[in-house]
Amino acid sequence: MQNGPLVERDLKVLWHPCTQMYDHLTLPLIPVRRAHGIWLEDFEGRRYIDAISSWWVNIFGHSHPAINEALRQQIGNLEHVLLAGFTHEPVIALSETLVSLTPEGLTRCFFADNGSSAVEIALKMSLHYFRNLGAPQKARFITLAHSYHGETVGALSVSDVALYKKTYEPLLFPTLVAPSPDRTLCPPGLSLSEHTAQALAGMRGLLERHHETVCAVIIEPLVQCAGGMRMHEPAYLTGLRALCDEFQVHLIADEIAVGFGRTGTLFACEQAAISPDFLLLGKGLTGGYLPLSVCLTTDQVYAAFFAEYSAGKAFLHSHSYTGNALACAAARATLDLFAQNDPITTNRLLASAMASAMAPLQDHPHVASLRQTGMIAALDLVADKAKGEPYPAAERRGLSVYRYGLEHEALLRPLGDTLYLMPPYVIQASEIAQLVEVLAAGIDHATQ
Ligand SMILES: *Cc1c(COP(=O)(O)O)cnc(C)c1O
Repeated sequence: MQNGPLVERDLKVLWHPCTQMYDHLTLPLIPVRRAHGIWLEDFEGRRYIDAISSWWVNIFGHSHPAINEALRQQIGNLEHVLLAGFTHEPVIALSETLVSLTPEGLTRCFFADNGSSAVEIALKMSLHYFRNLGAPQKARFITLAHSYHGETVGALSVSDVALYKKTYEPLLFPTLVAPSPDRTLCPPGLSLSEHTAQALAGMRGLLERHHETVCAVIIEPLVQCAGGMRMHEPAYLTGLRALCDEFQVHLIADEIAVGFGRTGTLFACEQAAISPDFLLLGKGLTGGYLPLSVCLTTDQVYAAFFAEYSAGKAFLHSHSYTGNALACAAARATLDLFAQNDPITTNRLLASAMASAMAPLQDHPHVASLRQTGMIAALDLVADKAKGEPYPAAERRGLSVYRYGLEHEALLRPLGDTLYLMPPYVIQASEIAQLVEVLAAGIDHATQ
């Protein structure tokens, strides 16, 4: 069997996500025949290291025996049942585990089936909380510059990535935008802690002016991922939690991308020792197997909805596949692997292997802002390093690195000219070295 016939059939009937389909007149589309561990294999026997964990969802590698087995067990008993009026053991056990693992105070789990839906749930719950408390004027959200929270209309409204957002402005609700504490935006001559304090001052200014009409601040803790792998100091989160308390607005921590060990701790919020009012999890929750997401919240939020039906305070939100039993079984198996194998410690070693392998790229004449948080390492391609001048976007240099990677056993799909590694936790140091070699050669190739 060859790739060609499948690609031909695909291109007649499919429309792929986040893709200008015209590109596939020349860009190879890769049909994957099977996957194991960090490796994807196509129909012609070519292999690719999944350096970006299949869009950040995969944690313990593809086709993991323990998750496979958990799914086999579950499918023999129950595939799915509605979660209104009914329940099942996998969703109960998973919720118990999530409540015990997540930061203090998060005691209630509301499930959905993708990250964007979890964001919508948090936005609606926060606004609804203040309505139930008799403060309907608190109905706006503050987000950070360069943040990304998904593609549905509400999630896109609280995002700030022009490429995904601009076209749909007429559909979106207005949001207040605070400055990003992104370390790469730290001006020369300013220390990181001063830069962090400035970003917090910007947030304080917005809250001072608008807190009476704001219900929540939403943030991607430690790493703004889709907005370009922009990393900030834990101190920003500590400061933000204090501001949200001071001005009586909710803090929504969107850990859909950074949760489950990605940043060096199980949850990014732990590094600032804070508890948000809403914690959103998705992506890695099922180890990359099945779509599942969850919005965790507090007793205090839950209590504002708990009343006689006639009070009209219920949260009447649902998705057909809420709490799907197969997805919950995969999630439980994934969390069991955390309990059994201590990947947080393993990741510390892998992260330092990644740091040493990437370090030489710092000196590359077209590489800027080499950065890392835990198991995410990123850099930007630049035309002029001294001036920090980017390449014209139309040159699509990042895409050229991607093409080079495909020819050299690596799936390195970039974010524009931001290249990054975000591999499954089962990668070995030697495989990291192999990836970085391809990345470096790809950068040479794309910038010559
Ligand atoms: C991916 C992502 C989402 C959206 O999740 P989907 O499952 O793609 O809808 C939301 N927030 C963050 C931080 C993400 O990275």
